Amino acid sequence: MVLARTGLRRLPAPLLCGVMALHASSLAARPALLPSAVAASPVHACSSARQCCWQPVGFLTQPALPQAPLCLAHAAPHSAGPGLRDTKLSPRLGNSLWGARMQAGSSGGAHAVRRSSGASASTSTAQLSIELVPCLSDNYAYLLHDAAAGVTAVVDPSEAAPVRAALRARQLQLTHILNTHHHWDHTGGNLELKKEFGAQVVGPAADKQRIPGIDVALAEGDTWQFGGHEMHVFDTPGHTRGHVSFYFPGSEALFTGDTLFSLGCGKLFEGTPQQMWASLSKLAALPAATRVYCGHEYTQSNARFAWAVESGNERLAQRSDEIARLRSERKPTIPTTLGLELATNPFLRPSSQEIREAVRAKPDASDAEVFAAIRRKKDSF
Ligand SMILES: [Zn+2]
Repeated sequence: MVLARTGLRRLPAPLLCGVMALHASSLAARPALLPSAVAASPVHACSSARQCCWQPVGFLTQPALPQAPLCLAHAAPHSAGPGLRDTKLSPRLGNSLWGARMQAGSSGGAHAVRRSSGASASTSTAQLSIELVPCLSDNYAYLLHDAAAGVTAVVDPSEAAPVRAALRARQLQLTHILNTHHHWDHTGGNLELKKEFGAQVVGPAADKQRIPGIDVALAEGDTWQFGGHEMHVFDTPGHTRGHVSFYFPGSEALFTGDTLFSLGCGKLFEGTPQQMWASLSKLAALPAATRVYCGHEYTQSNARFAWAVESGNERLAQRSDEIARLRSERKPTIPTTLGLELATNPFLRPSSQEIREAVRAKPDASDAEVFAAIRRKKDSF
């Protein structure tokens, strides 16, 4: 049983009668389920030990949201730029650790870093500073910064200009580019940023021929050191053949590209449903508190599909309302958490009886088979 093997929780069957009746009556009024004309807008995101908060660019002098007292961005002087001050890094962690575990790769000038037991150099207990950078119409790139080590990375730069602007605003020099997969809307800024900053490009070994400018090729089981932060690599194929996801356990942060979305998952362009289900199961087995940073702002449209297959899910109803509120205020819905996804994302819930009925799954269908049926239904939704 896949769920048992991966640690995915088998959630209880939804309360069908009362809850479904309640939400059927409120369906028309639920703003999250209505078409939205909210456009992507420049936003700032930052993370702290327990809270995240969001502020539109240009309004950074407004008070932080009251529920986000630990926000690193708003604890920092505005002149220093938001979201990139990390005050708790150990001073003994620095550039000396950078690349300490590098080994020669197999081909193409790329370098692989293989997992070495008991030799981790990552001892930082501080959170990695993470800033969301909107790109194109609905893509997100992310700036990662370790102030003590003086390293700054961007995850999946669709285009160079917004990344450059974010770097200049923070007076940072880009040192690394991390790519989850080869699609142009995740790698389009690679060569321009690499040329401008001399940044090292890190990406999936299985697709290294399709990653522009790649220097370091990583695969399942690899670890890679980013300043004082250890990054674990998972192969997560399905959307593309060589997709990888990046996990920073010390910061409980997971970069999923187009594998796992908030309330959704990527289309299966180059992989099978079985591959994607295995990839999602691997990610879902990480701690529930893990914050998920995905490649697109698709949450509101994904919520409409989720509601169509599981309207008896009370947590999903609550989340849909929150998503509608965020988008009406032109705020991002990212990051989400794995715990929230396990409770509301239909692609992680093939054991839900309501979803099984919605996709007309056979009673003895496996979770992978139900996942495939959910994916097919979403493709024509
Ligand atoms: Zn993609």
